Amino acid sequence: MFKIKLFPKIMAIPFLAVGLVILLFLGASTALSGGTPIINTDGYCFPVGGEYSYCDTWLAPRDGGERRHYGCDVFAKRGTYLYAIYDGVISKKYSGGLGGLSIWINTDDGKRYYYTHLNGFAPGIEKGVKVKAGQVVGYMGNSGNARTTPCHLHFGVKVNGTWVNPYPILKQIENAQERQI
Ligand SMILES: [Zn+2]
Repeated sequence: MFKIKLFPKIMAIPFLAVGLVILLFLGASTALSGGTPIINTDGYCFPVGGEYSYCDTWLAPRDGGERRHYGCDVFAKRGTYLYAIYDGVISKKYSGGLGGLSIWINTDDGKRYYYTHLNGFAPGIEKGVKVKAGQVVGYMGNSGNARTTPCHLHFGVKVNGTWVNPYPILKQIENAQERQI
C-alpha cells in the first residue's frame, strides 16, 4: 500500500510511454542493422545484412557507354550493416573521390574485395586492421558518385589483379547459406 501511494498508477503511464518509444527505437535499429551475420560452411559471409536486392550488371555500360561496370551493386536501406566477406585485412581506406567512402579487403583466399559508396566506416576499421568474416566493416550508403542514386554497395572483386564478376560469387555464398539453414 505504501508503495502504491508513493507511485500512483497514473504515474506509470509516462514511464510506459518512454519504454514503448525505447522499444520502437530498438526495433528500428535492428531493422537497419541487418541482424546477425551468417557465416557459411566455406567461411564466407554475404557482405550486406538484412533485406537487400541485386542483379547481374557485370560490364553494363555506364556514363553513356564511356565505361563499363566492373562490379555488382547490392541495394539496401541506408545504414544497413556491411560485413567482411571473409577473413582478411583492410588494405586500403578512402574517404573521397568517385567511390566516396571505400575500403579494400585483402582476404586469406587470395582475392581483393572492394566496398564502395559507404555511408560510414565501423569503429576501428583502418588500413592494416585484420577482420573476420561477418565482422561489421561499414554501413550502406550512396557516397561519392552514387550520391544521386539509391543507397547501394558497389562490390568489386579482383583476382590476380583482374576484375572478375562478383555476381556468381555472391550467389554461391547465398546458396551455401541456404544449404546450411
Ligand atoms: Zn556499381
